[in-house]
Amino acid sequence: MPPLKILILGGTGEASALAGLLAGNSRFSPMLSLAGVTASPRLPDIPWRSGGFGGVAGLTSYIEEQNIQALIIATHPFAVQMRANATAAGRATQIPLLFIERPAWQAKQGDNWREVAGMTKAAAALGNSPRRVLLTIGRKDLAPFAATPWHDYLIRSVDAPPPETLPPRAKIVTARGPFTQIEDQQLLAEHRIEVIVTKNSGGTATESKLHAARALGLPVIMVARPEWPDVTGLNAVKTGDAPGALAWLETLHHATLRGA
Ligand code: NAP
Repeated sequence: MPPLKILILGGTGEASALAGLLAGNSRFSPMLSLAGVTASPRLPDIPWRSGGFGGVAGLTSYIEEQNIQALIIATHPFAVQMRANATAAGRATQIPLLFIERPAWQAKQGDNWREVAGMTKAAAALGNSPRRVLLTIGRKDLAPFAATPWHDYLIRSVDAPPPETLPPRAKIVTARGPFTQIEDQQLLAEHRIEVIVTKNSGGTATESKLHAARALGLPVIMVARPEWPDVTGLNAVKTGDAPGALAWLETLHHATLRGA
């Protein structure tokens, strides 16, 4: 029986972890797809490709031409376009879909979170008086903060945002997690940060800022996760991590063997 052909839509630690679990496993023939937006991505020990497919039609053609038998959507919880495209391509091709989504962060005792739906509401929640803000939302959703230019922003992202998207008086720190609570407390203290704005990404790599905020008594504006696409009628399953994805793939492999 030839190996099961898998396409993994990546760009997350979970996708990298799954690639590590699949490397050298002769039952599977995986391809990790990266968006190509990070200057120096972490590269896996399995075959990989980089760059968009060209929307739903491009992804559907790729799946058909490469005879992909399972699609793993291991993109970031806020990468909504890719998730929607993958769902639509799954509908068009009827291949099994597995979503890997790490659990969301939950507020703990001592946290002072305000949950908001979307970046525009996050910018509005900062209020009308100038504040010193740590923005850890990536680099492509900055526009709403340019519309609230009276705050001082410290923006932390893996790669620097395009200068034309920056609010005035913004400072940039380029860094890739994981970070430690001590490092984050130092950063917050050094820049006299008064409030943090973050997406509810979940996971451990960037969670330290929440521990630091709790320790320093700082408020956090937490952007809630976007809605899920409608997967009604699809062979679609959700898991929280890479081992869960491997277990699903093993089951699919057995089922394919039995059906062969
Ligand atoms: P997005 O808005 O959902 O997707 C925009 C377009 O980028 C997609 O339509 C697709 O282009 C292409 N794309 C996205 N992920 C891809 C992948 N894994 N392989 C090939 N093409 C991909 O995505 P985004 O929010 O810009 O995120 C881009 C990448 O960064 C994703 O891989 C995501 O997992 C990662 N990431 C995102 C965030 C975040 O907060 N959004 C945080 C950390 C990491 P086509 O339509 O041409 O196929």
